Amino acid sequence: MKVLSIAGYHHTGKTTVVVELLRELNRRGYSTATIKDIHAENFSMDKPGSNTWKHWEAGGKTVFARGREETYQIWHRRLELTEMLAHLSTDFVLVEGMKSAALPRLICAGNEEQLAELVDETVFGVSGIYADTHTNYHDLPVISARNEINLLADLVESKVFPVLPLAKPECCSACGMSCREMTGAILSGKRSRQDCRISGKTGLTVSVDGRLLTLVPFVNRLLRQVIRALLGNLEGGKGSRIEIIIDE
Ligand code: SF4
Repeated sequence: MKVLSIAGYHHTGKTTVVVELLRELNRRGYSTATIKDIHAENFSMDKPGSNTWKHWEAGGKTVFARGREETYQIWHRRLELTEMLAHLSTDFVLVEGMKSAALPRLICAGNEEQLAELVDETVFGVSGIYADTHTNYHDLPVISARNEINLLADLVESKVFPVLPLAKPECCSACGMSCREMTGAILSGKRSRQDCRISGKTGLTVSVDGRLLTLVPFVNRLLRQVIRALLGNLEGGKGSRIEIIIDE
């Protein structure tokens, strides 16, 4: 699954870029999903006193609300990006916002001062309202979503790679850098996606209250060996796929 962020200042065309890219990627046959990061302090899809609110208050960790035309799944907490991505399986996920996430990024801005603040190693292109009236900014491609969506989608296809595990720097630096630094290194061609050391089949997956933990290779291997050794002494305890659920 390939994930990119479209980030930048308010009213600089981020939603237009997301919408135009969605249309074009869908036209090219890709399945897509989006995540919108919302900063409004009182944002809520649920209301105190509603039936769904009561379900959650009574202990439902997550609540489905099904109407005739729409279905919502409500968590009463802010999910990590990795938790949201775990629910998705589309070809592309477009994230509007989250400029600090370790994702390849298109930035939207109104002027060069804003661009100077936003550009870092994770940025592979400029779009939004700046790109509607300019054609270059240093060595970054500047492409208008309104006027050149084919070129912008080509750029996304060529630059965006399967999402990294998005481990916190204190949890993993097995490749010698952070996921964010790795994102920049892949975009600049100094590293490839295969250089992530904990990608692919990891052998052991652990989640706590629905949150997937990042296990560095050493811990992953150690836990696997300990669990297999303990279970191997039990009748029927040997097998290729083991599931353990601790629910206290
Ligand atoms: S090894 Fe992979 S998960 Fe770990 S820091 Fe590097 S890129 Fe991120």
